[in-house]
Formats: sequence, structure tokens, C-alpha cells
Amino acid sequence: MINKQMFEYGSKSSVIRELFSYGLERKKIVGADKVYDFSIGNPSIPAPAMVKQVILELLEEPAEVLHGYSPAAGDPKVREALADSVNRKFGTRYRADNFYMTAGAAASLAISIQALTVPGDEFIVFAPFFPEYAVWVETAGAKLLVTPADTEHFQIHLEAFENLLTPRTKGVIINSPNNPSGVVYSEETIMKLSEILERKQKEYGTSIYLLADEPYREIVYDGLKVPFIPNYYKNTLVCYSYSKALSMPGERIGYVIVPDEGENAQEVMAAIAGAGRALGYVCAPVLFQRVAARCADVPSDISAYKRNRDLLYGGLTEFGYECVRPQGAFYLFVRSPEPDAKAFSERAKQHDVLVVPSDSFGCTGYVRVSYCVSEKMIRDALPVFADIMKEY
Ligand code: PLP
Repeated sequence: MINKQMFEYGSKSSVIRELFSYGLERKKIVGADKVYDFSIGNPSIPAPAMVKQVILELLEEPAEVLHGYSPAAGDPKVREALADSVNRKFGTRYRADNFYMTAGAAASLAISIQALTVPGDEFIVFAPFFPEYAVWVETAGAKLLVTPADTEHFQIHLEAFENLLTPRTKGVIINSPNNPSGVVYSEETIMKLSEILERKQKEYGTSIYLLADEPYREIVYDGLKVPFIPNYYKNTLVCYSYSKALSMPGERIGYVIVPDEGENAQEVMAAIAGAGRALGYVCAPVLFQRVAARCADVPSDISAYKRNRDLLYGGLTEFGYECVRPQGAFYLFVRSPEPDAKAFSERAKQHDVLVVPSDSFGCTGYVRVSYCVSEKMIRDALPVFADIMKEY
């Protein structure tokens, strides 16, 4: 007898992974340049040169320092450097003790949800949302409630959200810039959301934590500013990662911030350390903790993503596809020309264009197009997108 829930998670791969694997096989048959794979969110711009330089410098250090354990929460000097960096950017007053280093945003979210949950708790997400949230919430023994999408602007459907809040609400997960819509939630949205949460906390006499999932914080276009959520709502936990900002998703490095201003902050941080211990997320990769500390303020050159966004958004809308203009991340959320997004994705697949149907993002009738790909692939794929539209 084994754990059935884990068996299910392990044996059913996600739609995104399935499409990506299909693409790899298909490329062997028709040639790599004949398959237009927009399925996965693997950063296509290289890590900044400074990342390599810092790694090379660190490799010269004595082996016991280079390869040794750090404390479970991470190297105190690393956490101090990251606190200083965040303080400079957002005018906060964090200390090393507010940071817990993790293996990416996935681990940050998994341990934060686990740390907060008691039986009967509920977490609310906003459609469209990153599908792994369901796995982390269910594993913690909580229930996931989905706020239907605001399909006009892809901000937050605040009225529907308010109706889902109850005394059982333990947390709300917010992701901006958003995967899969590419939208950045506006300051107005964040302020209204905070007002609702403050009011409901008072009404119920509970604490409701806002989990800010922020791997795309640095990937924004046209000089837009992403509101730093703890500056608007006190009970926020920040789940950050360097996967996209520094283009190093394979190195598995990120952190959770538990601000002092939040309710029971010390207990929450202790519970996060406990969840890290229980789930095995202790002592995040030490070499990359130190790389992150040294490169936290290094900007990535995201101009290639911006060019891709402009090219793809401009082309697709010209052919008659409907899509909200992305302000960040590297995804386009395109309305399927037929109501069944799976059928549209299948049709596109017949043309060797791989796009992800939106059902698993909690919002039917759209496809996600990841544009963290080469500009050439977008240029080659555009006439094919035009041909597909002509079939409708
Ligand atoms: N959250 C969102 C919205 C994501 O898109 C991803 C990865 O694609 C993650 C979390 C997990 O990122 P990480 O590589 O930091 O674990």
C-alpha cells in the first residue's frame, strides 16, 4: 500500500509537460525548426554574465566552505544581503531573520501553505492561476477555492472574491506579474484587495495571509512598477525565486519573507522553518544562496522578451486573435477561437504549433502561449497562426 494521493500526482503529468514531451518527440520526426513549441516557461535569455563570474569566483573557495551545509534557514550573511537589497528597493526594514532560503518559489509556497494550515482551512486563488497551487494546498490538507477570472481586464474579480471569504479562509495566493495572463495587478487592485482582507479579518476575528508568489517580479515592460504587496497589506508572505529573474530555474533558489509587521510573525517564521524541516527543504543550495546574494541587484536584460511580446501580440491580434496585452512575465493568454480550448490546442498541434489549453489554469476558453523562445521561432510561427485562424 502506498500513498494514493502522491501516486496520483506522480503518475499524471501536467498538460504543459505532456505537450513539451510531445514536442521533443515530434522534433525528431519533422525537424526541430518545424515544431513551434510555445508550451513551457523556461527562460530563453541567458543568465547575466555576472552570475557566471560569481560562480567562478566562489569555486575558488575552500571545499569545506564551498560544499558545506548552511543553517537550515540559509546562510545568515546571505539573508542579510538579500534583506538589504529588498530594503533598498522597497523602503522596507527587513533583517536576515525575516528570510528563509528555499529551493525556488515552488518550495517557498509549499512550506508557507503547510506552515499556516490547520484542518478545515481554505485558500483562495484568482483564475487564471498556476496549476501547482492546487497540489500544494491539497497536500497541506486545505481546500482550494477559485475566484472566477475577470475576463475583461484580467485584474481581480473582487466581488466574486469577497463572496468566497469565510472564517475558514487561511490564505489567499496572488501572482503578479501573472502566469498565465501576463497581467500586472494594478495598485488600485491591490489596495481594494487589501481593504477587503482587512475588513474581513476584523469581521471574523481571524488572520488571513496573503501569499505573494513573485518569480516574475523583475520581468515587466514599459517601465511599469509592480506594487510590493507587504507595503499595502501587513499579513503578507513573499515567495520569491531567482528562476526567472536571473534565468537560473535549474539552480533551485529563492526565499520566503515573513515581515515583522504581520500577525504572529515569529510563530509564522518558526512554523515555516518547521514545514521546511518536515518537507526536507532545509539548507537551500549553498553555492546558489551565495550567487543570489551577490547578484540580487544585477538587472537581467529582458529586451528580447519585450521584442517577442510585441511581435507576437502585434501579429496575433492582427490575425483576429483576442488577447489581453501582457505587461510582464513571458506569456500571452489568447482567447480560443472556438469555445473548447482543448480542441483549439489540438487543431494547432496538427500544424505543429504547441499552445497550452487554459482549463488547468482554472479558466476555460483560452490558450497560454509562452514567448520565452527565439525570435526566429515566433517569426516562423506567425504565418502558421494566421493559417489556423483562417480555418475558423
Ligand atoms: N509560481 C509561478 C507562477 C510559476 O510560473 C512558477 C514556475 O514557472 C513557480 C511558481 C515555481 O517557480 P520556481 O522555479 O521558483 O520553483
